[in-house]
Amino acid sequence: MTTHSSLASVRATRERLVELGLSTKKSFGQHFLIDDGVVGKILRYAALPRNSSVVEVGPGIGTLTEALLAQQVRLTAIELDDALHAGLAKHYSSLHLIGGDALAPETIASLQELAPAYLVSNLPYAVAATIILEYFQMLPSLEVATVMVQREVAERIAAQPSSKSYGSYTIKLNLLTRVVSQFNVSPQSFYPPPRVDSTVLRLERRHLYRDSIAKACMLADAAFFQRRKTIRNSMQAYFAEHGLDEEKVDRLLTAAKINPSCRGEVLAASDYLALAKVLENLV
Ligand code: SAH
Repeated sequence: MTTHSSLASVRATRERLVELGLSTKKSFGQHFLIDDGVVGKILRYAALPRNSSVVEVGPGIGTLTEALLAQQVRLTAIELDDALHAGLAKHYSSLHLIGGDALAPETIASLQELAPAYLVSNLPYAVAATIILEYFQMLPSLEVATVMVQREVAERIAAQPSSKSYGSYTIKLNLLTRVVSQFNVSPQSFYPPPRVDSTVLRLERRHLYRDSIAKACMLADAAFFQRRKTIRNSMQAYFAEHGLDEEKVDRLLTAAKINPSCRGEVLAASDYLALAKVLENLV
């Protein structure tokens, strides 16, 4: 059996942590991958072309990093923990490292310059959902994300209209990307094991008109501001501030082929997009 990462075992992970004088930090959501089979599967799902520009968020001790570097890609990794950052710098000289928060404006600005096409990460779960959406919004170069997230986040991302997990987050990410494939990972694949189940998703960017996406996102936020309202009521409340009267809102919904008395949660991302497009022609 081929080994993808020499760090993908409890023993190697413990040894590396001891070498770096570290223990795992709960506050940073540190759960290191120890399952080489999962590392290999992530690589297969990511299918990185040689020499492509790749970003990894939260490399930790470098388990996935080591496997990614072996793919001969141009890898940038962003790590918040200073001690882990120092350990990575020592062990992986060909790695481009950014220290700090993956969501800090300086980090996003650096990534905009680097223009990565791929995101491959076992993400820090507390900020995973935000990172995925924000990276696809802020990095036009990003085409594919292969990311490990908490199962609940994967459910929100792949949720169908009317289901419990469905919300404006689902719609916004859906306007930007589609889930192509996914697989589940058990807590035993990590050290220490997290209390939640995990899922790896491969997301690919959809290429829709940017202005329409931005508008559709605002409409989705407005529709879910009060989840129980009908779409007519939430759109009337939203458009009142924009000087559109009730009758115009009704015409807008009809033109987008949306039943005004349904709730926003039964509508698909494509409905919000249709509404955004009608709006563009109207104002
Ligand atoms: N990818 C590694 C570790 C995942 S644990 C592995 O698979 O083994 C999550 C990692 O994200 C930790 O290294 C943690 O320090 C880092 N982290 C947490 N919050 C972060 C943030 N906001 N920005 C960048 N890294 C972060």
